[in-house]
Amino acid sequence: TEELLHKTEKLSLVGELAAGIAHEIRNPLTTIKGFVRLLCQAADNRNLPYSDIILGEIDRINQIVSEFMVFAKPHTIAFSKCNVSSIMSSVIHLLNAEAALKNIIITHQFSSENLYIFGEKHQLKQVFLNLLKNAIEAMPDGGNIHVTIKTQDNKISIYIQDDGVGMSEEQIRKLGEPFYTTKETGTGLGLMVSYKIIQSHKGTIQVRSEKGCGTSFTITFPALLENPSIGESYKVK
Ligand code: ADP
Ligand code: MG
Repeated sequence: TEELLHKTEKLSLVGELAAGIAHEIRNPLTTIKGFVRLLCQAADNRNLPYSDIILGEIDRINQIVSEFMVFAKPHTIAFSKCNVSSIMSSVIHLLNAEAALKNIIITHQFSSENLYIFGEKHQLKQVFLNLLKNAIEAMPDGGNIHVTIKTQDNKISIYIQDDGVGMSEEQIRKLGEPFYTTKETGTGLGLMVSYKIIQSHKGTIQVRSEKGCGTSFTITFPALLENPSIGESYKVK
């Protein structure tokens, strides 16, 4: 089952607004969490169950918010020359420990050519993180994730393959809809945000999946040709 995803109309306002708000929510949350911990130490034991609930709910908000903007401040988004393979390497590195705990091995094969695109590195990091997290979550009993990056016809393609639970056609059709999730504690926001970012980078995303066999996402961006005049960073909007 294969489908080219064009769901831009669904993302416009929701995505942009939410990403902006999400970033601002993180700092006060961190403060609240710190002070709840302090209060727990001071409080008598009767109240401890309440503080566990509070801390648990703070973690849940953090999880929702992190689907949007772990790395980027929305108002300082500047496009520049980005090395896709080094961004991907950093995300794989970030997830390796978590993957190992779940008996998942992440392997990769990056072309040795220049893998540059014109983009915003924090947003690209967010996309790779959201997709790799989904791949990990699709393999509750462990498995393999393979990431390939190569260039062709002035384009750079990134393949993220897993041998996890896979999806039905019906599921594939719903991908990218805000709040569409099949997970008990999922947010259904990761792909919506990723599609939005890919779209703003003039990229495309394709998915191929089979129930019980696995899933493969392919993201394609226009390659940045060696041209010093466009390698310079500038602000968008
Ligand atoms: P969430 O991960 O919070 O559920 P996402 O937007 O990241 O939200 O993903 C939406 C849904 O798409 C998931 O709940 C899952 O059903 C499906 N999905 C995404 N990636 C994969 C994958 N690699 N394998 C199987 N299903 C996937
Ligand atoms: Mg997700």
